[in-house]
Amino acid sequence: MVDELSRQRPSVVVVGGGFGGLYAARRLRHIDGDVTVIDRGTSHVFQPLLYQCATGLLSEGSITSPLRHLLRRQKNTHVALGEASGIDLEKRRLTASRIDGSTFELPFDYLVFAAGMRQSYHGNEEFAKYAPGMKTVDDALAIRRKLISAFEMAESLPTPEERRPWLTFAVSGGGPTGVEIAGQIRELAVGALEHEFRAIDPSEARVLLFHGGDRVLESFDARLSAKAQKTLDHIGVETHLGVHVTDVTADRIEVTRKADKQKTMYDTHTVLWTAGVEAVPFAGTLASALGVTQARGGRIPVEKDLSVAGHPNVYVVGDVAALDDLPGVAEVAMQGGRHAGAMIAKTIENGTRASSPFKYHDLGSAAYIARRHALLQAGPIQLSGLAGWAAWGAIHIAFLSGRRNRAGTLINWAATLASGTRRERAVTFGDPETARMPYA
Ligand SMILES: Cc1cc2nc3c(=O)[nH]c(=O)nc-3n(C[C@H](O)[C@H](O)[C@H](O)COP(=O)(O)OP(=O)(O)OC[C@H]3O[C@@H](n4cnc5c(N)ncnc54)[C@H](O)[C@@H]3O)c2cc1C
Repeated sequence: MVDELSRQRPSVVVVGGGFGGLYAARRLRHIDGDVTVIDRGTSHVFQPLLYQCATGLLSEGSITSPLRHLLRRQKNTHVALGEASGIDLEKRRLTASRIDGSTFELPFDYLVFAAGMRQSYHGNEEFAKYAPGMKTVDDALAIRRKLISAFEMAESLPTPEERRPWLTFAVSGGGPTGVEIAGQIRELAVGALEHEFRAIDPSEARVLLFHGGDRVLESFDARLSAKAQKTLDHIGVETHLGVHVTDVTADRIEVTRKADKQKTMYDTHTVLWTAGVEAVPFAGTLASALGVTQARGGRIPVEKDLSVAGHPNVYVVGDVAALDDLPGVAEVAMQGGRHAGAMIAKTIENGTRASSPFKYHDLGSAAYIARRHALLQAGPIQLSGLAGWAAWGAIHIAFLSGRRNRAGTLINWAATLASGTRRERAVTFGDPETARMPYA
């Protein structure tokens, strides 16, 4: 960790070891200064495959890489485990909490803030208790526990009436994450679990996808979104458009049709939430210290070079930065992190402040719908079905960090394709407190 004695060299603190933070730190590897990457977790998480971890296809180890390992060869870089909780911009000190609740300080000359977003419940925070989001590894593991436990509960119950709510799965939000998880639950039920139970038929699992808009995957071209809808219909996901989720409890979900306010209840013990994001809480602390008003979803507005107005040594990158309506995707975070790192590196090298505008090169977006069906949209290129699926797979493997993760994921995908099985399904009930957690 950087201390007072070593402060002759400039120091850079990077908050967040996600895509933005990691790429910023990597760009700073040759500076004559100290870099500290602080994250509240030990690992870089490849969020685009969280839903495959949640549905038992990939292990949490396959979609994460320890930050210390990723940055081990970068001799000027320290990794700190802690949650940024306070900041003094005048003294240039960041305060962070350790896992035991005690705090420590990190002095900095430059700050890169890349702490991402968390799930938003749009003021209905009480839903979070029953409807986990999908932003962290903890979320994915909680969802996996809920899904696998639901099938097990259904198997143990005597009547179809009692089983039905356990075999009904509701997903709120028809963006890429909602569509992906809904499709994967059907594939889990129909492919992996179909022949493993005796009392229930897992393929009868009902998957309900609720979305407020008039088509799923609204960030994609309407033609691609229609193809995705066709695939969802084909695999048995029941899509309900133009509805808002208005209540969630331990055993049901209530949705309200936007057009006529008609309410419908569905009995279910498993509700998953993917509808909306908001900035992590520390963004509010930082914004008030910076004297800036948070933009939509609590994002922090930045100048064209990704620094904050009036604070040339503070950069904000990735999902939590607000600039020109850039989308919250990994590529924006990676390119933004690299850009902020370059600005700081050049400033340190030249002794005068470097500032050039961030230019985002849109490499397109992709979404998995079902086995052999994915979408890819990159400029004029639009792929769906098998071609989209192959492109989706290649892109995800290319961006997954670590050779071992890439190899392991490919093997898992191949095994699942060949046999339909999903092996990452361990749910233990050793601790009664933990066992109760999903349905508490
Ligand atoms: C389920 C899912 C699927 C997705 N699919 C795709 C996709 O297919 N393609 C695509 O391009 N994008 C996808 N995205 C979006 C993409 O993952 C994000 O745009 C990207 O992760 C943003 O990077 P980031 O660095 O801004 O934030 P993150 O990757 O979220 O990283 C933020 C980091 O900050 C840490 N942190 C937060 N608060 C603190 C604090 N106070 N102190 C210390 N550390 C903190 C977190 O632990 C985390 O490691 C998906 C996202 C999700 C959730």
